[in-house]
This record gives sequence, C-alpha cells and structure tokens, in this order.
Amino acid sequence: MSREESREFQGVGVSAGRVIGPVRRMPEPLAAPADGAPLPEGTTAESEAERLGEATAAVAAGLKARAAAATGDAQAVLKATALMAGDRTLLKSAIALVQSGTSAESAIWEAADAVATQLGALGGYMAERATDVLDVRARIVAQLRGVPAPGIPDSDEPFVLAAVDLAPADTATLDPSKVLALVTSEGGPQSHTAIIARSLGLPAVVAAAGTGSLVDGELLFVDGITGQVVQNPGPAERDLALAYTQRQPLPDFDGRGRLADGTAVPLLANVGSGVDAQAAAAAGAEGVGLLRTEFCFLGRDAEPTAEEQVEAYRAVFEAFAGKKVVVRTLDAGADKPLPFLTDTSEPNPALGVRGYRTDATVPGVLARQLAAIAEAAKQTAAEVWVMAPMISTPAEAADFDAMVREAGLSTAGVMVEVPSAAVLAEPILGACDFASIGTNDLTQYTMAADRQLGTLAAFNDPWQPAVLHLVQATVRGAQAAGNKPVGVCGEAAADPALAVVLVGLGVATLSMNKRALPAVARVLGSVDPEKAQRLARLALGASHAAEARSLVRAELPELELFGL
Ligand code: PEP
Ligand code: MG
Repeated sequence: MSREESREFQGVGVSAGRVIGPVRRMPEPLAAPADGAPLPEGTTAESEAERLGEATAAVAAGLKARAAAATGDAQAVLKATALMAGDRTLLKSAIALVQSGTSAESAIWEAADAVATQLGALGGYMAERATDVLDVRARIVAQLRGVPAPGIPDSDEPFVLAAVDLAPADTATLDPSKVLALVTSEGGPQSHTAIIARSLGLPAVVAAAGTGSLVDGELLFVDGITGQVVQNPGPAERDLALAYTQRQPLPDFDGRGRLADGTAVPLLANVGSGVDAQAAAAAGAEGVGLLRTEFCFLGRDAEPTAEEQVEAYRAVFEAFAGKKVVVRTLDAGADKPLPFLTDTSEPNPALGVRGYRTDATVPGVLARQLAAIAEAAKQTAAEVWVMAPMISTPAEAADFDAMVREAGLSTAGVMVEVPSAAVLAEPILGACDFASIGTNDLTQYTMAADRQLGTLAAFNDPWQPAVLHLVQATVRGAQAAGNKPVGVCGEAAADPALAVVLVGLGVATLSMNKRALPAVARVLGSVDPEKAQRLARLALGASHAAEARSLVRAELPELELFGL
C-alpha cells in the first residue's frame, strides 16, 4: 500500500504510549432472536437440537482452550464461563424448548433468561453469575449464526483493539499481553475505556471520530500521548514507535512523593476494594486518597448489612495501618444508579439526586454507612478521614461534618466537584476539615459537558483553563479558612504534567490509580516549587486546554525521556 493511502484520525490521548499493530474490531453487540421463533424451514426438532448441542460444545471447548492459555483473573473468569457453557441443565431446558417447536437460537435465549432470572433472585454471589449465563448465551447464539462472538476478539497475534467504547465487563477478558493499544470512536477521558487503559498501562486514544470504519488487519499507529491515530503508518510514525520502545524505564515509586527540593507531596491511591488497597500499598502508595465505597453497593438491590460494610471497609484499612485512608461516602446516581437509592426516571441524572443529595431523599443509608466506617476504623489502625461527594453549599458541608462527628469519626471533608463548591471554598472549608477535588466531575460541571459523551471529549479535559481557575479558587478558599488541606483525587492527578500544575496551584496531595505513581513521582521530583508555580501560571493563562497542555509539556523534558 502506498503512503498516500494513509488515513489520520484525531482523538484524545488518555493513556501514554506509541505503538504500531494490526487492528481488530470489537464485534457488534448481538441482536436478540425473536421471542419463541419457530423451527426454521427445512429443519426438524432433532436437527436443531443437534445443532444446539454442537454449538454449545464448541463454545465450551473454545473457552476452555482460552482458559488454559490465560493466567490470573482472566483465567478464572474464562474457566467459570466455560463451565457455564458446558452446563447440562441449561442445554437440557433449551432442548426441551426446541422439541416443543422453538428454533435453537430462541430456545437457548429463553432458557438462559430463565436461569439468569433465578440466579438474580438469589442475590449476592449467585446474582453476579447471572451475567456469566447471559455472556454464554450470546456466545452460543453467535456460534449458531456463524458470526464472531461478542466481547474482546480472540487472536494469537497482539493487536490494537478498536471499539465504539468498552464496558466494564469487557475488562475481565482483556489480556494486556495481546492488546497493544485501545482506540475508541466514542468515550471521553473519564470513560471506562480510559480508566481501563490507564489501570492496565495500555496506550489509548478515545473519541477518535471515524475509526469505526477501520477494517480488521489494517496497520495502525496509535499515539496515546497526542491522541493521533494513523492507518497505514509511514516512516515518521515508525520512528516515533521505535523511539518509544527505547525510552528509559521508569524507576519504581519509592513511597515518598516530593519535589526536587524535597518538599513533600504525598502520593496516595484511588482504590475500590480491599484487594485493590493491598496492590496499592505494595506499589508504594502513601495512603488512600479516595476509597470509592460504591463497590460494596453496586449491583445490589438492597442496602448491604452493617456487617458486610464493616468487613469491606476493614479490608481496605488493614492494608494501610498507620496511614491515611480517605473514605468517600456512597456516590450513587448518574452513571452509578442504585435501585434502592436513586430514581432512574430523572430526565437529567447528572444534575439530579446523586452523591450526598440522596441523604435528603432516602435518609438513613448515609448514617448507617458512617456507623460502619467508624466501626471498621475502630477495629484497625488506619487514620480514617471521611468525605462526601457532590457537596455544593456550605450548609451541606456543615450538616455532613455534624453527621461524621455524631458517628464518632474525627475528620470530615468534602469533595469539590461542583463549581459552586470551588467558588464558596472558604465558607465550605470553614465548616469542615479538608477538601478533595474530583476533577472528573468538576470538569463536566464547569464545562457543562457530560463526561460520558465522546462527542464532548475535548470539553471534558481537566486541562481546561476554567477548571484550573476553580482549582486555584478552592486552594485559596481553603487557605483563607485556616490553611485546610486540599488534595486532588480525579484522573487529573494521574497525568504527570498536570500533577505539576496542580501542585503549583497549591494542591497538597495527589491521589491516583497505583499505576500512575512512578510517572507522577518522577516528574514531580524533577521540578522545584518555583517551577511548579510558574508552570501553573502558564496553564492558567492559556486560552484553551490544548494550549495549556502543550505549553506545560514543553517545559518538562522528563516526559519525553520516559515516553510519558
Ligand atoms: C471525580 O469526580 O473526579 C471523582 C474522583 O469521582 P468519580 O470519578 O467517582 O465520580
Ligand atoms: Mg465524582
């Protein structure tokens, strides 16, 4: 193919790295077969039953083979799914339907539905298995139709995965040794794809319009730093990819975040479970800056018991004995709906009853959660701080502070993720002990751009100077309220160049995915406070996000050196 036939796509780089590889597209989601469709013409119940048996066996064998080649979590998921595919009860009930005149596709669809509903009704672990049954069902139907199975494509060769966007369920089978990079046509910097890519350390570009037309096998250059995607790359892209492979390896994080002059900037981790917390502690995190407690609640149709909650929080606290753990109280609503707490019929859920606001509509859940956090804190040696999401007025901050103390906990704070909280940081911080800026939501609300919408990804960029001005306003308000500490726990803290700017703006601590710790630590260690402040002024003075980013990046040679 000649160089002229090359095509370029511009997206948003959300995870650093430069690679070249063949593209594989994520298959289209499978359409459901018609309800109770009759046996197709020319078939008999016997031939359909036989076809169903063969399809099921082929799916089970395929999953088993992949499980044998996989390791860790992926292997466990594949093994469980293979077992489910080989389940005789499921096949038997589907065959019974075929024998009563239903097509193989509709029969397996209906039979799996019944099993999933039964599992769902059992709750807890069993309810989670319902998803596996539905996954197996989709694979069997794809096999019957002779189309690619839904989910991450199977391939022996490493490839660049192209998709519209990825769902959390896709992560379990995403094998980082096979996937070279991620490219999505939708999704923003805060989308699941971006979060997955960063946690796996894969180069990724999101919101790259037009990449939906890429064809399997085409060679792609993906630049997770600039957001450029080039189909049929030429020598310039090859040089960039080669230079990336020759970058200096990043030293491990030594567990002490600091600037070049020794000024301490504690680097904390964002975690969502006890297992996560252990991994973060092993990676050197100096504490937890954001414990997302939703992990204990999501996928449940009733509030977890006090015992379940204490157990879940304790597992996190135990990983950080003697260290700070900032627990965020339940942040339900918008992209995290909870049947017993939020109203899914709201016309505009991001502006609806979410986060701390659910305490007004369903009182009691928050008080019980605080009691469970206090109990878990009592049983362990972590220094437990608690903060509420979506605080927008000083009165809310004062009420939350009172609830925290009532529960017997000593340190109460707020997340600053609504512009009003940044503007009124002084009275808000006057009413509590600390603030943590959630730049993901602060960006979406400042720019009035839904963080889940790929088309608005360019607005949804924490480098937006308006967002940085609100970070500055928060720090100034907190200083005026008696030098209250301000941290950042949104994805912005994981961008090493932006981390420098945040520190230059006066942010005291940064909390991030554990994978970002070495890069952020290294780049922070290359600047003194004066340089951080100068770069912060540069970014504040920029007229748009891309300008702020490139002005600051040009001043940080460490980024190039380490391919960040
Ligand atoms: C944020 O909004 O920046 C944040 C950390 O919270 P979440 O991403 O969980 O909404
Ligand atoms: Mg948030």
